[in-house]
Order: sequence, then C-alpha cells, then structure tokens
Amino acid sequence: MMVKAAFLDRDGIININTGHAHKTDQIIFVEGIFKLCQTLQKLNYKIIIITNQAGIAKGYYSEKQFHELMDWMTDEFQKQDIDFDGIYYCPHHKDGLGDYQKICKCRKPEAGMILKAAAELDLDVSQSLFIGDKMPDMIAAANAKVKDRILMCEAAKEEAVSSNVQNLNIRPFTSHSAVTQWIIQNQTEA
Ligand SMILES: [Mg+2]
Repeated sequence: MMVKAAFLDRDGIININTGHAHKTDQIIFVEGIFKLCQTLQKLNYKIIIITNQAGIAKGYYSEKQFHELMDWMTDEFQKQDIDFDGIYYCPHHKDGLGDYQKICKCRKPEAGMILKAAAELDLDVSQSLFIGDKMPDMIAAANAKVKDRILMCEAAKEEAVSSNVQNLNIRPFTSHSAVTQWIIQNQTEA
C-alpha cells in the first residue's frame, strides 16, 4: 500500500541554516520542529529528509562527516519519539571537485531525490507535502507533483507571490507552529 510522506528540507527547516553545517556544535534545531514532526507522525506521514549538500562537492566536509552528523541528528529526534523514514542527499554541484562536479538530476530544484524516495519507499506524492525554506525546494516539490508545497521562512509571503514563481501554489508560513496548525486543520477538513 502506498503511504503519504512529509518531505522535509534540512538546513532551515530541521536546523537553523548556518551555512554548510557539518558538526554537531553547528546545529541549533528550529523552534517547533519536534512538535511538527510528532504531529506529522501521528497523522501517519512518513518523514523523509531531502537535502542538497553542496558542501560535500566543494570539499568543505566529507560524505562520512555528513552521515555522522545525520546519525547524531537521528538519535536526537528519536529521543523525541520521532523516526526519520528516509534521508536523501545530493552531494553534487556544478562547481564541485572531482566526481562531485556534476549537473545532476538530484540537486533541488530537480525532483530526483523526491522521485527516488517515492519509488524506494512506495510513497504517494499526490497525498504528500514538502516543507522547505527556499524556492528550489518548492520547485522540486512541484516538479515531483507533491500535493502541498509549504514554504517556511521569514519572507515566505513575499516569496510566494513573487512574479517568476506563480502557479506553484505555495503555502507560506513564518513559523513551524503555524505549519503544524495548518496541517492539523487541513487533516480534519480532508
Ligand atoms: Mg534549506
């Protein structure tokens, strides 16, 4: 049976985006992220991280360091009774080093990571949502035909109406608590 998913960007949604974070002491969790994930899980969404990690391509940190950080993050979320059902990352960049230098189909705004997750985990994108803090997240979600595209950042409203991104039907929010409220409300109305 296909299940619905909440696709979550990492930097800016799980943790405050400090730029190429790769060590635990660089991680501050965004306010309300645990409550948001607990709510999603209670509503039977699989929680899938979808993250561009150009820092790997650029040699700022290794894939091993990325995995170590994600293992730690997974533990921190498990302490809050939250399980990540999948973690997908893109280590490529057009200006990357060696094999990482690549124009790929996985780096957002491309839909590759979402489509891969959906295929591997039997996810129904037409019942799923994506929560991101930047336009490439929203475009990737639209490209993958994810139903609800939630932009959570300070300037969400302005960005959601900006002229070159019309027709994406973005839902703008400026806090995780507001997103959580909307998801609960949307669920009861569905
Ligand atoms: Mg982000």
